[in-house]
Amino acid sequence: MTKIIALTNQKGGVGKTTTAVNLAACLAALERRVLLVDLDPQGHATMGSGIDKHELDGSVLDVLLGEKPAEAVILDCPEAGYALLPGNGDLTAAEVDLLDRDGRERCLHEAIKGVAGDYDVVLIDCPPSLNMLTVNGLTAADGILIPLQCEFYALEGLSALLDTVEQIQASVNPSLQLFGIVRTMFDNRNSLTRDVTKQLRDYFGDTLLKAAIPRNVRVAEAPSHGLPVTKYARFSRGSQAHRVLAKELIRRLSL
Ligand code: ADP
Ligand code: MG
Repeated sequence: MTKIIALTNQKGGVGKTTTAVNLAACLAALERRVLLVDLDPQGHATMGSGIDKHELDGSVLDVLLGEKPAEAVILDCPEAGYALLPGNGDLTAAEVDLLDRDGRERCLHEAIKGVAGDYDVVLIDCPPSLNMLTVNGLTAADGILIPLQCEFYALEGLSALLDTVEQIQASVNPSLQLFGIVRTMFDNRNSLTRDVTKQLRDYFGDTLLKAAIPRNVRVAEAPSHGLPVTKYARFSRGSQAHRVLAKELIRRLSL
């Protein structure tokens, strides 16, 4: 059964896209068929997958608006090993374009339901806000994965996100689950990191994943080469940590 996972956190710069790209690559390397959906107008997941966001023939926006079938827009990323439903700045129009549609929350769900079955895992990289695109991501998903940086305001932002998740559960997607929280840019030498980890563990228990992604310069460099870190710097700490994360999710979610 396909699992659709939305990577979401309305805070920018917490590692959503980095986790999405590298997790996609690690799951693909572990022989899962993976589709990565770039739902962020910044198009960083697209660029990080080695696809030029300025040169797209079609994007996830065309698919959301029902103007193209998903299979016409999905690209193969042979180096990274997964398929990509690319996105770019055109998506900024989506908020307005979707607004006066019936079932506007369900456009992504409708758009990908025909192709989702071709994959074991669909990862959706959400934009850094709780807008209509994110709502579409959460409506299409079976569950969410929250990348989170262990800093003082991290928990505050989390409650707004969890409120949104509850609203989605109460309306368009009752079966939406919280699949996990993954700590990113992790540095265990930092006492704040340890404090936040303890708070997360106390509050979320097992939902806080064991795998944490360390701050690692290779992880930050990889996107400028259009590669996941597992291809750019296979033996780096960042690469290894993403592999551990992929394996933990495979076990936990039976991917
Ligand atoms: P988001 O998608 O949540 O906005 P990104 O994944 O784009 O966040 O990450 C924000 C910035 O932090 C990027 O410049 C990225 O390269 C960097 N970054 C993310 N994870 C790591 C990491 N583990 N180590 C070092 N830099 C990282
Ligand atoms: Mg991003």
